[in-house]
Amino acid sequence: MFIRLGNNMIEAADQLFTKIRAYDSSVDEDRFRRAFVFGMEAHDGQTRASGDPYYTHPIAVANLLADMQLDLDTVITALLHDTVEDCEVSLTALDNEFGSSVSQLVDGVTKLSLIGRQTGENLLQAENFRKLLLAMSEDVRVLLIKLADRAHNMHTISHIPKQEKRARIARETLDIYAPLAELIGVTNLQHSLEDKAFAVLHQEMAQTISARLEFMVQESEIVIPMISVELQDVVERGGVECSVNGRLKSAYSIWRKMQRKKVTMDQLSDIMAFRVLVPSSEDCYRALGCVHAAYPNVMGRIKDYISTPKRNGYQSIHTGVIGPENHKIEIQVRTPEMHSVAEYGVAAHWDYKTNIFDKNMFKFKWIEELVGILDEEAGAEEFLEHTKMDLYHDQVFCFTPRGDLIALPKGATAVDFAYAVHSKVGEKCCGVRINGKNRQLATELENGDKIEIVTKSSAKPLAEWENFVKTGRAKSGIRRAVRAERAVEFSRVGRSMLQKAFSENNKRLQKRVLNKIPQLFNVQKMEDIFAQIGEGRLQPGLVLEKLYPDLAKSKKRTKSAGEGSRAKTKKNKPLLTIQGVNSGVAITTARCCHPLPGEEIVGIFTTGKGVTVHRVDCATLVDFNDMPELWMDVGWEHEGPRRVLGRLNTVLSNEPGALAAVATIIGQQGGNISDIHLTDRSADFFSFKLDLEVKDVEHMRTIIAVLQANNFVESVERSSTVKV
Ligand code: MN
Repeated sequence: MFIRLGNNMIEAADQLFTKIRAYDSSVDEDRFRRAFVFGMEAHDGQTRASGDPYYTHPIAVANLLADMQLDLDTVITALLHDTVEDCEVSLTALDNEFGSSVSQLVDGVTKLSLIGRQTGENLLQAENFRKLLLAMSEDVRVLLIKLADRAHNMHTISHIPKQEKRARIARETLDIYAPLAELIGVTNLQHSLEDKAFAVLHQEMAQTISARLEFMVQESEIVIPMISVELQDVVERGGVECSVNGRLKSAYSIWRKMQRKKVTMDQLSDIMAFRVLVPSSEDCYRALGCVHAAYPNVMGRIKDYISTPKRNGYQSIHTGVIGPENHKIEIQVRTPEMHSVAEYGVAAHWDYKTNIFDKNMFKFKWIEELVGILDEEAGAEEFLEHTKMDLYHDQVFCFTPRGDLIALPKGATAVDFAYAVHSKVGEKCCGVRINGKNRQLATELENGDKIEIVTKSSAKPLAEWENFVKTGRAKSGIRRAVRAERAVEFSRVGRSMLQKAFSENNKRLQKRVLNKIPQLFNVQKMEDIFAQIGEGRLQPGLVLEKLYPDLAKSKKRTKSAGEGSRAKTKKNKPLLTIQGVNSGVAITTARCCHPLPGEEIVGIFTTGKGVTVHRVDCATLVDFNDMPELWMDVGWEHEGPRRVLGRLNTVLSNEPGALAAVATIIGQQGGNISDIHLTDRSADFFSFKLDLEVKDVEHMRTIIAVLQANNFVESVERSSTVKV
């Protein structure tokens, strides 16, 4: 296909190529020209807001990067950076034409641009957004290209007709892109971004400062060269070779200083800054000595960023002096290498020949932080090879449908996201759409995902979610919900236990009675009483006694009358008989082993207490081994509807419905739960002692067998004392 190159385009290509060849003599000219034409063809017919051909923009971005002496792939990517997004060029086509390095870089820049469009107006989240951009710029060159792209867009921002839109872009630039440029030390882009954004956002202030500067410029046109010459003379007379460069400070930096120091423009005397370049860092200190010997130093203005570089690698010595003709001036002393790092930051360490960063990168702490090196030795090597940045390797950033940005730990799922939005959203979530597609709630989220949580008023968190969520907020939310759900179960169990206790005492659990109870126990709702009973924290008998004090008295009376065992307090005949002993002796079953009818038992006589009946295999009996006189033969009286208390150690899986299922099974098998003691609760299981009233040991065995068959039941066994 024949491409018509306008004269100015040929010129632009030539200029750019000359610029690259100046620092990379072996640059592949054919590849460069092909890329230049490819981009031009792709953008053919498109125009900028200014009316200029669109391609002027990629060319300008490419020039900014060539100024930083970046490799050809980076410059080519700049030329093509908008082709995938704005033209119908595929990544595959770029891959075929220019290789995977370029196509990956273009892909990275395109992704950053798409992400940029997702943000809502809410820039309060600038911090998160900066982190997202860093997290997504896996190759630091992607970020450099994006910053250069933004710098040129800010350069031409006056062509955007609506002030609102200009202001939005400027705010975004100041809040997000300028700090990123600062972070990676690309000061030249940082300052240009700040100045342009400042002029849009604070038009009047910018104009006032500029006007004032302009007034001083007329003066400074003579003053700056004059001071420069004098400074150079002062330093060189001290024996240090140097070059001096003077300038007026930017409107933005003056404004910042006015804000920081709360001074007015008139009070702000040092608006001129001078840069002294010397061959070595030793020379920097010598030059500083010369300057301080010649001019009075302004207190508190010396900063030594050579011995202690800034986090982004910046090195220089700063000082302020009352200079020639009493002008208050700022001076920065540095070497040419320091200067290049100061201007281009991370880009200054890029080796275009090997396509890797040079070892000097690792002089600076911020690089370590930037790449998030885990294994120090392997990490450094790996970074040199792949130029990957992984600053936020432990975080992932996702968008709400409104464009709010939410930061989560890596590995976080849709459920974590839901809880991060609001605990109510977490509690009611039942599904998720990620980037418009229905996905599972356990899906791990990726950077830049747009997450839409589906909620339903009847939805409830499931205990098993705890296995995959990553955030403490989601974990505790789920636990809270599961606990609340369990409280409902406990209260169901507690209600039936209380009902049983009432009917055993020939009382009816009526509404009138129910309404009285909470107040007696100083709680809000009857549900709380039920839950306490269900959890074993309150005995049903106690409730009865509080309601019917007479009942308690009669009970006490029967007990104190020494009428005998618990068995005797019931109407039925005794359950246990002792051979060779007259009735009238109190017989009780031991709390340690809870013997059941049908089991082999033995009685132990205790003076004043009567006979305590144990299972023959009860560990407690060891204590009585050398006291045979206390052992008594006892036997079960088999007939009668009487129930005996047995105790089970039960472990259930920690799921809603588990306890209810157990209660149902026991009820169906004709057993009665008389007490529950929670002993342990973990994420997966909860354990408790279950006191059951059963007919005999066979009855208990049946119940155990049926319980063991249930899915919720992890283990169930007779409780027995184990001697240590
Ligand atoms: Mn662009």
